[in-house]
Amino acid sequence: MSILIVGSTALDSIKTPKAENPRLLGGSASHAAVAACFFGPVRLVGVVGSDFPKRYLQLYRRHRIDLAGLQILPGKTFHWSGEYEVNMNNRRTLLTELGVFETFTPTLPRAYQTSQFVLLANIAPALQLHVLNQMKRPRFVVADTMDLWLNIALPDLLKLLKRIDGCVLNDSEAHQLTKADNVFAAIRKIHQFGPKYVVIKKGSHGSILSGPRGFFLCPAYPLPRVVDPTGAGDSFVGGMMGYLAAAKGSIDENIRRAMVFGSVTASFCCEGFGLTRTTHVRRAQIDRRVKELEKLTRF
Ligand code: AMP
Repeated sequence: MSILIVGSTALDSIKTPKAENPRLLGGSASHAAVAACFFGPVRLVGVVGSDFPKRYLQLYRRHRIDLAGLQILPGKTFHWSGEYEVNMNNRRTLLTELGVFETFTPTLPRAYQTSQFVLLANIAPALQLHVLNQMKRPRFVVADTMDLWLNIALPDLLKLLKRIDGCVLNDSEAHQLTKADNVFAAIRKIHQFGPKYVVIKKGSHGSILSGPRGFFLCPAYPLPRVVDPTGAGDSFVGGMMGYLAAAKGSIDENIRRAMVFGSVTASFCCEGFGLTRTTHVRRAQIDRRVKELEKLTRF
């Protein structure tokens, strides 16, 4: 089953203590789409400018990502730049140039409107709502967000939370949204905003699901070396949604396993700059790491 993904399609300039890489393919939707396509067909909704390198369009196509919903407009592609400290959990945004995103209105091709699985990856909540308004009875809608939107677009975000099945936040965003001093208290409050499923990402410490069947503690794959964690959160939710869209059975039956597949897909993302590692991974490698995680967490 196809999954529809809307979010940012960007050029990322990334600096770590060891290296610097300008204008890599990035954006929440790009990371999520490449992760999801390990599991099934992906429809991408986004916008890029006329400066967007052709090789990146070819990369999407090589991964069989449907680009009917990708607008190419005159102007500059969204450009984001970030710098990591020695502790890779700490990142500073150096630059955000909106470019063509400033005036972007996502209009869905007719075929996209009946997609059953929808991932509203990180982008302004007003745009996430605009996409949701065009959907016809989707089966499972999940949204991701970031601190910026909690700061400047909270009313839109609260409107969105009422209308989605699941939300994915990192732990600091959960605290910012709820003011709760404990992650489990924060989860309870987030459910009250609307979503039936709440997923809290804790970076290299894994993630927590709260849903109708209670809690699930999902491990992160133990990586001895992290090269660049940019997009790990997007890869996690992209992999999770891709797995869910492909799996038979109910969401409740599959969501724990889906998170583990998301977690493993994100681990590959961290092993290279931007999408360089993820785009060279094969499905069998993902399956192997999932088996390893299974062994590591059984008791
Ligand atoms: P993550 O590491 O999961 O937080 O995601 C990083 C990705 O988010 C990068 O590829 C950026 O291009 C993208 N990004 C950064 N700022 C924004 C923003 N304001 N809106 C949408 N996407 C963004």
